[in-house]
Amino acid sequence: MADIIQLLPDHVANQIAAGEVVQRPASVVKELLENSIDADAKDIKLIVKDAGKTLVQVIDNGKGMSVTDARLSFERHATSKIRNAEDLFQLNTKGFRGEALASIAAISHVELKTKKVEDELGTAIEIEGSKVMSQEVVVTPSGTSVSVKNLFFNIPARRNFLKSDTVELRHITDEFHRVALAHPSIGFTFYHNGSELFNLPQENYRQRIVHVFGTKTNERLVPVEESTEVLKINGFVGKPEFSKKSKSEQFFFVNNRFIKSPYLNHAVKAAFEGLIKDGYHPSYFLNLTVDSKTIDINIHPTKTEIKFDDEHTLYAILRSSIKHSLGQFNIAPVLDFDHQNQFNTPYSYKDKIANTPKVEVDRGFNPFREDISGSNPNTQKSTFKTKPSESWEGLYVGLESKSNFIEQPIGEIALESETKSKSFFDDNGQSIETRKTTFQLQHKYIVSTIKSGMLIIDQNRAHQRILYEGFLKHITIKEATSQQLLFPLELHFSPNELEILNQIKSDLEHTGFVFKDVSNNRIIISGVPVGVAESEVSIILEQLISDIENEVPDTNFSATDLLAKSMAKSLAIKNGQNLSNTEQEHLVNSLFACKEPNLSPTNRPTFITLGVDDIEKKFK
Ligand code: ADP
Ligand code: MG
Repeated sequence: MADIIQLLPDHVANQIAAGEVVQRPASVVKELLENSIDADAKDIKLIVKDAGKTLVQVIDNGKGMSVTDARLSFERHATSKIRNAEDLFQLNTKGFRGEALASIAAISHVELKTKKVEDELGTAIEIEGSKVMSQEVVVTPSGTSVSVKNLFFNIPARRNFLKSDTVELRHITDEFHRVALAHPSIGFTFYHNGSELFNLPQENYRQRIVHVFGTKTNERLVPVEESTEVLKINGFVGKPEFSKKSKSEQFFFVNNRFIKSPYLNHAVKAAFEGLIKDGYHPSYFLNLTVDSKTIDINIHPTKTEIKFDDEHTLYAILRSSIKHSLGQFNIAPVLDFDHQNQFNTPYSYKDKIANTPKVEVDRGFNPFREDISGSNPNTQKSTFKTKPSESWEGLYVGLESKSNFIEQPIGEIALESETKSKSFFDDNGQSIETRKTTFQLQHKYIVSTIKSGMLIIDQNRAHQRILYEGFLKHITIKEATSQQLLFPLELHFSPNELEILNQIKSDLEHTGFVFKDVSNNRIIISGVPVGVAESEVSIILEQLISDIENEVPDTNFSATDLLAKSMAKSLAIKNGQNLSNTEQEHLVNSLFACKEPNLSPTNRPTFITLGVDDIEKKFK
């Protein structure tokens, strides 16, 4: 039998390719704008007629093309952007497939005018449905202009399939937003049917967002900034109260390319958990910079979906950075310590000594006053009221004084305490090093003073937060110290439980577990994370399995996070546990060295503050 396979003629192949690349006028807009950006244009003009059905034109002042390049640019797989397969793994340009112009030219009437800066004259080419109609030498400004007319003229089905002008224009505007937001240092103008819709000068990112979405946006933006070895984040999230019913203000850019990522979107949503009503969506404008070797852009012809090597880590860092920004924005005015946000990476505390937060002691704060006034509501009130400022200043009452202090007759308190305070301060008024700064309440709370009043920390939740961030760090940087068990530990699980353990086995190993065997309904453990007692292991793993079964419907989803949470929950100091002064202080310091000290891993407050104002109110 005769052979029947034939190569498709180029114009047919181009039309097929066009089906993938060009779905609607907005796709043409995207491809042309991206070509101009790749050509290093500093100013780009977009001219559209009838929502792109009649005309899409992009004019740039980029590097232009030589005569040969101008002609070659319409060939399929003709690109100046990559040379070999290796280049695919470190892309710094928008395009690289070399099929956009070929595809567009296969299904429309295209006019190209282009000139390189160093050339006197430029080139004009006209193509209709892949056929070159004319090519001329012309006088034209440096840069490139591409006009695309009568899109889908030769594919009526496609043309009829286009939506109303309103809808198509909205798609075009979306593409324009994406490109414009990704490149604030490039000026853009956008005309539709002769009227100017956008005129965006070269500007910074914040200005660009405000220009695109309106002046009111400015006050709504909360900056997000993070720099780790694997991921840099910069950009903004919208304040929670301005979240929207639509998802129209959600933008991820990875290495300056707009991408869609439900997974990373989930990370943002998780960061906003508890702050936004159901059915509302946070706004975000986030630029992520990763090593281009760690992503694969070439999984979809429109290049809006990409694959990351290590999504889990990105998820954790993204979520944590946003929470941190939101936390700062909510909490920062209340607290008086400088928040440490200088970490290179949230999970690289390795070799780092925890920064001791500056907890300022309010010398005017007396934690026992409330008791006194409370038990003697009518006595000597005026003594406190007459000279409040003096007695607030220069007064520090340490814990040791508690019993003496309360026994003093009320009338003598102001005087007594001033005398007393001398013994706690050296001549310069500096506190003596050995003074206590914390005490434990009901074996449950740690109380400390801060400049604006008083800080009450929930010891269990605080410790969970500290452990949680520690585990997350170990899991993401993939190193942890483990302690060898003298005798390996054998534990039994159901097949289902084993399946779950298997899924998170490698993450568990990064926290310090060493598994010798996981099979036949049992696991054998030969090493555990430092600080974990042998007797706790089965409790931790059972807790973990039940957390995973109950909390994550789709397997594997942010298992890292769950693991860290679950282990933190199992291992944290419990309420009712007595803590020495050193332990208390260590806990406070470690908490405030955390990325998100204000919330427990399950999003409950780790501490509350009682302001001097609140205290003063109680005395009224
Ligand atoms: P790709 O962008 O994937 O390389 P295109 O079909 O979009 O493929 O473009 C083909 C080639 O034409 C590009 O690689 C580039 O060299 C050239 N080109 C396209 N548009 C422009 C432009 N606006 N300015 C300069 N060169 C351009
Ligand atoms: Mg291109």
